[in-house]
Amino acid sequence: MGLLSRLRTAIDGESSTLWECRNCGVTLSEEAEECPRCGADEIVYYEF
Ligand SMILES: [Zn+2]
Repeated sequence: MGLLSRLRTAIDGESSTLWECRNCGVTLSEEAEECPRCGADEIVYYEF
C-alpha cells in the first residue's frame, strides 16, 4: 500500500520530485547517489 500511495501522489501531481544526472542528463526515478548510466555523482533534483 505504501508504494501504491506514493505512485498515486505522483500521478495526482500533489508532490513530485525528479532526479537528473548533470553529466549525461538521464532522468532517475528515485534518489540515487550516483548515475547508473555514466557513474557521475552529480545528481540534481527538481521539486514540482
Ligand atoms: Zn549520468
